[in-house]
Amino acid sequence: MSTESYGPRLADLRRRLVPAQGQPVMHEVRAPFTDTPLGHLPLCGEAEVTVAVGRARLAAQAWARVSPDRRAAPLQRFHDLVLQRQDEILDIVQLETGKARAHAFEEVADVAIVTRYYLFRAPGLLAPQRRRGVVPGLTRVTEFRKPKGVVGVIAPWNYPLSLGATDAVPALLAGNAVVLKPDLQTTHTALWLSELLSDAGLPEHLFQVLSGDGPTAGGALVDAADFISFTGSTETGRIVGSRSGARLIGASLELGGKNAMIVRVDADFERAVEGALRGAFASTGQLCMSIERLYVHRVLFDAFVARFVERVSLLRLGSGLDWGADLGSLASAAQLAKVTGHLEDAVSKGVTVRAGGRPRPEIGPFFFEPTVLTGVTPAMRLHSEETFGPVVAVRPFDSDDEAVELANDSRYGLNASVWSRDTRAARALAQRIEAGTVNVNEAYSAAWASVDAPMGGVKDSGLGRRHGVVGLLKYTEAQTIAVQHGVPLDLSAPWVGRPGARRVATSLLGAMRRIPGLR
Ligand code: NAD
Repeated sequence: MSTESYGPRLADLRRRLVPAQGQPVMHEVRAPFTDTPLGHLPLCGEAEVTVAVGRARLAAQAWARVSPDRRAAPLQRFHDLVLQRQDEILDIVQLETGKARAHAFEEVADVAIVTRYYLFRAPGLLAPQRRRGVVPGLTRVTEFRKPKGVVGVIAPWNYPLSLGATDAVPALLAGNAVVLKPDLQTTHTALWLSELLSDAGLPEHLFQVLSGDGPTAGGALVDAADFISFTGSTETGRIVGSRSGARLIGASLELGGKNAMIVRVDADFERAVEGALRGAFASTGQLCMSIERLYVHRVLFDAFVARFVERVSLLRLGSGLDWGADLGSLASAAQLAKVTGHLEDAVSKGVTVRAGGRPRPEIGPFFFEPTVLTGVTPAMRLHSEETFGPVVAVRPFDSDDEAVELANDSRYGLNASVWSRDTRAARALAQRIEAGTVNVNEAYSAAWASVDAPMGGVKDSGLGRRHGVVGLLKYTEAQTIAVQHGVPLDLSAPWVGRPGARRVATSLLGAMRRIPGLR
């Protein structure tokens, strides 16, 4: 299907937007493959956020009273519908982002994996938990988990299906309503999610999509929601973090990366080359966990670069809504300008371009070749700044210590990758890397898709985690209810001051440290 023939379907999806109040300024969304219009979206602001959050808050009150088991029912249908109706969303994701179909499919798989995980884990994790009381047998303590209320999800354009759904699903299962502010570029994907959730039977207003620019609509959402789940750049993350901090609401911040891959001398050579291809060029390098720094043991370095360049030169760039291309387009003129800017700066400072390095306007206006560089120096912007494009810098190292030092020489700490046949040594090396996830013998998907474990960044790559237990419980408030039986816990009672009573209390406290079951 073509961009033009999708027009009516996209217009239909736009009817699901939070309605604009008054006459909004309209924003034209353009398809990256062709730079032709996809449709017009209203630039909403505070008034629309107030409407959306108000409706969400009412819906959340009723939803919070539904048991977690029953909340799971529509999300189970949603899981199945995503898989059944994937062809349509693969088209829409491709039209909005310009990525290759295989990379759009990663998003479908991610939504299925995360939804399945929380469907089955959430009821248990949200159930009241008995906790040990201060006086065993006499103080009965229960920890309850209550929803926050309205969760604002602010998402970027690069993985619009994944990041629109996978933070929202646990928030919904925890009993919240979600207001999603996607990037303007990928709002139709978010609206498709809204349609699917509604078709799956999710009650009205529990999942709403706001269309608007970041500072206005996103800012207003941060000012109105009860928790913010933000994914995007480190620069915006700082703004969102301080704004939500000023309101004393929680926020999880999933931010940028400049991720390193280390190829040890004992790595499986061909698998490592293959891994570097996937790691550096998935979604045309516009993936937060993407590999932009590739460190290869000096013994392998020349052969590795030669083989990598050979494989890169065989990658097929393409703009079809089919499975024919290995790599798609960059998402916008701004992305192309950023990638080109980084390249031009590096070339002017003496970098060696081993593969790629050029825009490919004959394929589409924002296409850029997968690019391999050597000789990158700290003076070049792409040495330390996130390029967020299909550009990878390769350099040699001589020892594990040096590899760790190079990997940690970054303000970011999102993802890393280590390749070695000695997985014990690789894991030891991985533990020394300052990153929230480290994949051994994989570039990013082993950690990303193992959703029972937390995922997120250290240093400038973020605060908080998605996935795992924390990825659900962050959307709840813990409430502790302690019921005291028998003696009151009155340490101000007059008898406590008597030497005999205090001696008894002191020896009891001392003994408790030594008694298993009481300590
Ligand atoms: P961005 O920060 O410009 O925008 C992200 C979202 O924030 C968009 O919806 C935008 O409209 C909104 N926004 C912008 N300004 C805002 C403000 N002042 N207040 C509230 N919301 C605001 O990021 P981007 O360029 O669209 O996305 C790419 C970045 O996202 C990269 O740095 C990438 O590494 C990062 N990212 C991180 C992860 C992760 O899981 N850590 C995943 C995907 C992308």
